[in-house]
Amino acid sequence: MAYLTVANATKRFGETFTALKDVSISVERGEFFTLLGPSGCGKTTLLRSIAGFNQLTSGSILIEGRDLGSVPPHKRDIGMVFQDYAVFPHLTVFDNVAFGLKARKVAKDEIARRVPQALDAVRLGALADRLPAAMSGGQQQRIGLARAMVINPQLLLMDEPLSNLDAKLRVELREEIRDIQKQIGIAAIYVTHDQEEALAISDRICVMSNGHVEQLGTPQQIYGNPQTLFVASFVGTINALQPGAALDGLLTTLGLAELAAVHANSKWVVRPENLVIAKVAAASGEPQATISGRIAKYTYLGREAHLQIRTDLGDLVVHVANPDRTSVQLEGEVTVAVARSAVLGFD
Ligand code: ADP
Ligand code: MG
Repeated sequence: MAYLTVANATKRFGETFTALKDVSISVERGEFFTLLGPSGCGKTTLLRSIAGFNQLTSGSILIEGRDLGSVPPHKRDIGMVFQDYAVFPHLTVFDNVAFGLKARKVAKDEIARRVPQALDAVRLGALADRLPAAMSGGQQQRIGLARAMVINPQLLLMDEPLSNLDAKLRVELREEIRDIQKQIGIAAIYVTHDQEEALAISDRICVMSNGHVEQLGTPQQIYGNPQTLFVASFVGTINALQPGAALDGLLTTLGLAELAAVHANSKWVVRPENLVIAKVAAASGEPQATISGRIAKYTYLGREAHLQIRTDLGDLVVHVANPDRTSVQLEGEVTVAVARSAVLGFD
């Protein structure tokens, strides 16, 4: 049995607005599960419903098969970390972390034992007596994490915990959060709108849009085998191939003609890293189609370069790895090659 089950959750605000539409997910014990989607798609609403701060309009939330419907938030055995740290500025780091334990009437000597453990886990052991006001955003968020975990929850909920931090710190702290979660072995639900973050730390990702589940799967499934155009374009980048004679020709060359006929309204897309400049392409056994064009723009990014190629199918963006080792001809005509497996079609 899954540890947490959300079954057919619907949440309406007011008469007409539906923030969650028939959402069903299940999270396993020890799993790092991420809700990924653009701002306003319902991630926080779902998280708050699991925590018990929101009442669902319909549907249910179960932990180990037990319906939480009538269980108040403080009895749900859930730790929560918020985007805006939510630390108490006038309390020391120690007292911030001890707060939830005191509220639960945990004995003093046990508090004295558990708080340092939690602080050590987030590498704040040496700063227990400091006030948070003078500490960095990263350190404040570690306090938030220690405070959520000191109650030994069975489930850890994190709502965009890193979005107020700068890029480098975000990468460091996300690895730490993941390591700590795996060490403790509890289930975690992590909310983000950052697709790279989601791919990097999740066991499974639930991509949401407009209050519903678009796709649920491992990072590899979400990125490599997107089931909807929304998922393909939200997770990673895509080139949309414009319909028309040139595209028909391309699909025919790729052996996709029948598919194209069946799915008359299909959208065809290809990821920039799956296009190759033919002059530098390694020969592949797969059927390939080629399009010629001219380089309209070249952006050098160190480990890769982005080329914008003007073709009969519109502009295509091609990502080239190792641009220093790849001699890309910048003048005149180039050929872009597409492999059969790289073209994704959506109804
Ligand atoms: P996300 O966390 O993915 O950015 P939210 O779950 O916060 O999205 O919000 C989803 C939608 O529900 C938004 O359109 C938001 O304005 C709306 N919403 C959230 N909370 C309330 C509320 N208490 N009353 C009315 N609308 C709300
Ligand atoms: Mg939110």
